[in-house]
Amino acid sequence: MQNTEIQISEIFYSIQGEGLLAGRASVFIRLAGCPLRCNYCDTKYALDARAGTKMSIDEIMKKVMKHSPKYAVITGGEPMISPHISLLCEKMKENNIHITIETAGIKFVSGLACDLMSISPKTSNACDGQQDKDKYLKIDQLKGLVGNYDYQLKFVIEKIEDVAEVHQIVDYLKDIDRSKVLLMPQAGDVSEYIKKSPLIVELCKANGFVFSPRLQLVFGETRPAE
Ligand code: SF4
Repeated sequence: MQNTEIQISEIFYSIQGEGLLAGRASVFIRLAGCPLRCNYCDTKYALDARAGTKMSIDEIMKKVMKHSPKYAVITGGEPMISPHISLLCEKMKENNIHITIETAGIKFVSGLACDLMSISPKTSNACDGQQDKDKYLKIDQLKGLVGNYDYQLKFVIEKIEDVAEVHQIVDYLKDIDRSKVLLMPQAGDVSEYIKKSPLIVELCKANGFVFSPRLQLVFGETRPAE
């Protein structure tokens, strides 16, 4: 078990940029590999399952604990497809770390020691023009995740029409707490983020959703050299 290895794209210490825990200093553990190819993906370097380096759980924990973190974010890629996600969560819990998993919501795994399942369901702005569009939104998997974990639903919004899809997904999932539904602007850089944010603010006001910042765009690259 000690020799279990996971393909890691990167590990770094920064602040959480998005969602209900934005601003918290956190260690980010980015797992390599994702079956999707979203149009706006900003971590393309982590999509290949062979990206980065193979690391044992012990090696990962050594890097994580260097920062004595209160919060950790397991992200990707798509971390829920890793066969070792459960063990990684267990090891972090042994050190009393609050765990957020960032996922597209395409795979439900039960029994994880996860404190916040941070789910970004994909609307058509992620997969227009892509093949196998039905891979991007799996309502049954989403139902499993919101029914079994504390969650937040983060939607990337490109245009006003996207909100109709957000309502549709939230309605499918049933009994969703609107204070856990967050909208954030689709933006590749800070100028686009500033330009699009007022529209997202108005959409949140009109629909009872929550505005999520994207602080990583504001502050730019915050990953320290190891
Ligand atoms: S699910 Fe996330 S990591 Fe995968 S392609 Fe989409 S944005 Fe990128």
